Amino acid sequence: MSREAFFARIGLTSVTACVALATPGCSSNGEPSSQPSERVSLPAIVYKGGELLSVPRVVTVTFRGDPLAADLDAFGASIVSSAWWDTVRFERCASGGACVDDGPAGTSVQLSTDAPATFTDSDNGAPSTVQTWLLSAIDDGSLPPPAPAPSGAMSSTVYLIYLPGTTLVDFDGLMSCVPGGFSGYHNHVTLGQGQAVPYAIVSECTPPPPPSGSGMTPPTTLDTTTVTASHEILETATDPDGHSGFGMRLDRVDNWSWLDIVGGDEAADLCIDPFGMYQDMTQGVMGSRTFAVQRIWSDVSVAAGHDPCVPAPAGQVYFNAAPRTAFFVLDVGESTTFDVDAYADGPIPGWMLFAQDWSGSGGYLDLAIEGGQTSNAGPKIVVTAGQTLHVTASLTADPSDLPSGEADGALVSVSGSGSPPVAHYWPFAVMSREHATRIGLAVRKDRDGAPVRPPQALTALGLSGTTSR
Ligand SMILES: [Zn+2]
Repeated sequence: MSREAFFARIGLTSVTACVALATPGCSSNGEPSSQPSERVSLPAIVYKGGELLSVPRVVTVTFRGDPLAADLDAFGASIVSSAWWDTVRFERCASGGACVDDGPAGTSVQLSTDAPATFTDSDNGAPSTVQTWLLSAIDDGSLPPPAPAPSGAMSSTVYLIYLPGTTLVDFDGLMSCVPGGFSGYHNHVTLGQGQAVPYAIVSECTPPPPPSGSGMTPPTTLDTTTVTASHEILETATDPDGHSGFGMRLDRVDNWSWLDIVGGDEAADLCIDPFGMYQDMTQGVMGSRTFAVQRIWSDVSVAAGHDPCVPAPAGQVYFNAAPRTAFFVLDVGESTTFDVDAYADGPIPGWMLFAQDWSGSGGYLDLAIEGGQTSNAGPKIVVTAGQTLHVTASLTADPSDLPSGEADGALVSVSGSGSPPVAHYWPFAVMSREHATRIGLAVRKDRDGAPVRPPQALTALGLSGTTSR
């Protein structure tokens, strides 16, 4: 189904949304004044013109004594030729150019040395002991050399480097395996001949338990490790230099709140589950083995009105609530009311919609849903697909000093018919007028951070525990 047909199906017209400060027909607070409007769309993953790894060659690297080494070697041998890979890479073709294809069977190296206690790394030129170590390991033959590439180009070899959770990695100030930190990232290093070599660091973090009361089986460390590895290998192949391959447009203010919540702009980032319920995890069959892998954002699925993260859970109806505006500029004390359209891709009973403040530890947004009730998880209302709600957001404190520079609200849709419940969300951002004027909204927002794990999100599910992972 085309995008237009989808809008028609849920009864919306298709015109420019009021998201910028000065869109004609929009008042200064971003609300439509006289023109009709539509809901903003979910973010799209677009090609930005840079290199791709068309035929990724995976080299799995583990240190001495890694109890997961044999499993990770088996995973690395077939990840880029698996059915999961074919599902998540099929639309990653540059317009008229290269596609991300299957790679050959991965190779592996189990090092005879211990993993270091600490590593540092950087993607902005700061000193990196990871890169010093990687270059010397290639140099002394402990690791196979990367596939040759012209000077200035990216090698197709990806070193997938696994570290025990006890190795503390400091990546430009973000730390591994801690709440608010990371479990993996990808980066690249330049060899003496000017050739760039991509690599990914995957930390074998102990997964935090699922929220209590969710009835979920806790994932194993192997599960969360291969989920992180699948995330990084997909992003390395589709965006090897981290900014010029496939990613969400950062010059669209509609996308900024997504960046704040998921902490990145690439195709795997957008599917990270902020509820900490491992809804972003699926099973990938690889030969005779099955490994946990991550679901990946699909523009094709979005355009069809389905769950944006593929593969979607079998037999599950997708439901969400879409704001018609996802970026607001307000003075502290000012409020705005916007329309929210509830939709689903199949028959589903009414679900509970919450409006929540996901900024910092809260206290930046006062939210209300017309006709709704208050609850300890914020205002809530039962909605059905096709219904339009009216949500009012007031800016109650200046968010300029938050790391994101803006407050983030979330429309949280929860269907409690299953155990664990299924939850989807759609975020929106509120920036102070002073801040918006100061930065100008034409700037590219280009700040990756740690994903947000709002504790508020779990209250909407009637659960408790940590959302960190
Ligand atoms: Zn990522």
